[in-house]
Amino acid sequence: MLNFKNDLNNIKAAGLYRKLLTVGSQSAPRVVVEGREMLMMSSNDYLGLCSHPRMKKLAGAAMQEWGTGSGASRLISGNVSLFSDLEEKLARFKETEDALVFSSGYMANAGLLTALTGKEDIIYSDKLNHASIIDGCRLSRARVETYPHRDTDALESLLQKGVAYRRRIIVTDGVFSMDGDIAPVPAQVELAEKYDAVLIVDDAHGTGVLGQKGKGTLEHFGLCGNKNVIIMGTMGKALGCFGAFVAGSTELKEFLINRARSFIFTTALPPSVVASAQVALQIIEEEPERRQQLRENFSFLRKALNGMGFNTLESQTQIIPIMIGDPQTTVDMAGSLLDEGLFIQAIRSPTVPEGSSRLRITVMATHTMDDLKQALAIFEKTGRKFRII
Ligand code: PMP
Repeated sequence: MLNFKNDLNNIKAAGLYRKLLTVGSQSAPRVVVEGREMLMMSSNDYLGLCSHPRMKKLAGAAMQEWGTGSGASRLISGNVSLFSDLEEKLARFKETEDALVFSSGYMANAGLLTALTGKEDIIYSDKLNHASIIDGCRLSRARVETYPHRDTDALESLLQKGVAYRRRIIVTDGVFSMDGDIAPVPAQVELAEKYDAVLIVDDAHGTGVLGQKGKGTLEHFGLCGNKNVIIMGTMGKALGCFGAFVAGSTELKEFLINRARSFIFTTALPPSVVASAQVALQIIEEEPERRQQLRENFSFLRKALNGMGFNTLESQTQIIPIMIGDPQTTVDMAGSLLDEGLFIQAIRSPTVPEGSSRLRITVMATHTMDDLKQALAIFEKTGRKFRII
């Protein structure tokens, strides 16, 4: 008989135990958690699109028209036309030649990295890249060199050494998921060109948020349309639904359809999700005020937290970490915040490096000034209680 008691006890003793909390309402700034109303500051539904009336209406209509599921992978039961429509819109949005939808961001990263690289290739990966990139690197069997977080000098030294490989790939989160800082993409684009490498930007958290039109990290830096960059983006965060995509050349798309195992061997997304992603792109274009409000909200909150003495690392975005360090203190603080009605998660190893446990705040465009002020009052009280500030 398999027995996990010891493993679970060890996880608990290290302050790394995780458990699921029951939520009884839709994604919104106020949610019902374990039967109590709470202020949500842990959702990646940055623009509040999960509960946008137009999204819900069109998803419902698409479900009536197309049914609840896709039946099989797109290569097996056929490519429902909604997918091509969405891919065309995603490519236009990201200013690439084409795009390919995957069933999740995790699968997009795994599929992309394993399709592009094998034993004869090398991947340069930021130390704080998302777990799905790390797993994709591992699965690819390529040589993987990890460079210190956002360190372009270190990246260049590694690139100078790795000339003997067939393909050279630099991969980075655009907006780092647990730190909220932004990758130095302009310098990375230059390095990729100089050393004959390709840059992959995982823009899970930049898509819909960064740049004047919400196109993401590349727009933020004025680099849309760069042919040497492959963009991965997700639809489960600012786009308010689910799934992901890789945007790049038409030839890349054709190659991925033939080689990305997480595309080939999985059931296609439900049609209603594909339809809602299209509506999300429309809303992102038509309601720029959501993006603007999100920026105002996160700037206000971050400044106020810094003013209280919290360390928010180098966050420049809607993801605001509060550095604590010790995992148990972080868990205890998250528990205390929860008791006060603020839904915030303790982020610990292996999600972040050991010794850098933190509370992770995510701000939404739909948070009101009252929400933000309430959160700040709770943070101040809890921070003092735990002698963090
Ligand atoms: N990349 C990054 C940077 C992420 O933060 C996430 C999700 N947290 C993913 C990829 C995976 O995306 P998905 O949730 O769609 O699998």
